[in-house]
Amino acid sequence: MTTIEHWVGGHTTAGRSARTAPVFDPATGEQQGEVRLATRDDVADAVGAADRAFEDWSQTSLARRAKVLFAFRELVNAHAEELAALIVAEHGKVFSDALGEVARGQEVIEFACGIPHLVKGEYSDQVSTGIDSFSFREPLGVVAGITPFNFPVMVPMWMHPVAIACGNTFVLKPSERDPSASNLVAELWQRAGLPDGVFNVVHGDKEAVDALLDDPRVSAVSFVGSTPIARYIHERGTANGKRVQALGGAKNHAIVLPDADIGFAAEHLSAAAFGSAGERCMAISAAVAVGGAGDAVVEAVSDLARAVRVGPGRDAASEMGPVVTRAAQERIESIVTAGEQQGAQVRVDGRGYVVPGHEGGFFVGPTVVDRVTSEMDVYREEIFGPVLSVVRADTVDEAIAFINANPYGNGTAIFTNSGEAARRFQRGVKVGMIGINVPVPVPMAFYSFGGWKDSLFGDKHVHGPEGVSFYTRAKVVTSRWPVPADASDATFHFRSTAR
Ligand code: NAD
Repeated sequence: MTTIEHWVGGHTTAGRSARTAPVFDPATGEQQGEVRLATRDDVADAVGAADRAFEDWSQTSLARRAKVLFAFRELVNAHAEELAALIVAEHGKVFSDALGEVARGQEVIEFACGIPHLVKGEYSDQVSTGIDSFSFREPLGVVAGITPFNFPVMVPMWMHPVAIACGNTFVLKPSERDPSASNLVAELWQRAGLPDGVFNVVHGDKEAVDALLDDPRVSAVSFVGSTPIARYIHERGTANGKRVQALGGAKNHAIVLPDADIGFAAEHLSAAAFGSAGERCMAISAAVAVGGAGDAVVEAVSDLARAVRVGPGRDAASEMGPVVTRAAQERIESIVTAGEQQGAQVRVDGRGYVVPGHEGGFFVGPTVVDRVTSEMDVYREEIFGPVLSVVRADTVDEAIAFINANPYGNGTAIFTNSGEAARRFQRGVKVGMIGINVPVPVPMAFYSFGGWKDSLFGDKHVHGPEGVSFYTRAKVVTSRWPVPADASDATFHFRSTAR
């Protein structure tokens, strides 16, 4: 059986732990390998390697850093299919979607290739007589990334290309459920010319995470995962004096107004709810149908849900793969059952879904649940599976208020032909990322990604300008070069007049 090891200081290492976790093929349900789980000492070794590498890397010129980024971009491009195959094997999503995930990660690398421009400071000549003032940004040191299972390549790439381009060194703790792609990414960084120790991977669970949160040599932590863990990471990391951005879970709503093209809205709702088996933090999991739109939306989206081709991710005919684990499959099904018991109407039932030839796989079929209310578990829980709940509202204002009453605030969308309603929506919702007739409004790499409320703990969103700001700190210099003839102007008081 393959054991997936850590990558520290430029090579793989088993570390000191005998502990491992199983890695499954979600399409068959069979264990296909195991991943090493780091101890505190293993994490200390990885942080030590990153700490030693920091001095040289942070002094490396912007031109040379950019060159490594460009080479890394070419290597990721050349190995995109290999990365996508690793994602499919351990996550389960369909190959075309995995390739799209790699492409989205690559866009962040492309953004980071512009690092000489991104860290440009400001300069003010002659702020006072003979005095200039200027600012620039410096890297923080060792920074850590702790990432979820659902985007094993893209989410780490929201972090490490930007952090490394800024002159930091990086320790990645990827999800233990789909760990392999991170090791290939480490090899590609090395081949791109990144010095050993600048990018490290430790595999593990809570023990490894806690060690990163407690190590005084780690300056900042970027986390993406579920809300309870995001809250914990933020509390423990900041209590230890670190800069922390912790992105949490989501419940993303899409409003459908009666003036919308219902066919267009239903197609996009179906793709946004069932794509990647609903295991996207930007998946639409609740449709809010306004007024007369309700029955037509439910009808159209149910027809589409029944037609989704469910199967193994490596089969080119599949549109939707399995969910990640047996536990996830059972949890999703039990939440749908709870919704049914609480009065919701299951219009398309994906429970007990069997793919012929893959009877052991962790499949859940597309599921549409109608007449959902805010008290039901099927609405309150982040299901993270292929389940679309439909709730009804009488007006757009009621729909906006409904969204704002939800504790999450990651993404949301509206389907309408009314510019007035769309504008009221974009200004009124307390959500970080908003789509107007765009159901999954993920910002491009040159903007920043992040939610509000329980979807983000910390002040900065990831990648884009806020990512650069998160991974650097500013210096402001005030300088003058007096000549001997200049009279001294030292005083004991703040000046009250300009000079
Ligand atoms: P998770 O919270 O279970 O795990 C995320 C990371 O935290 C993993 O590396 C895991 O090993 C670690 N972890 C798990 N339990 C821990 C504990 N008790 N203490 C310390 N570390 C722990 O999340 P997941 O199931 O891997 O991913 C799905 C979740 O991630 C969903 O809630 C989804 O919405 C969220 N997500 C959010 C975004 C976003 O941008 N907001 C993006 C992707 C995923």
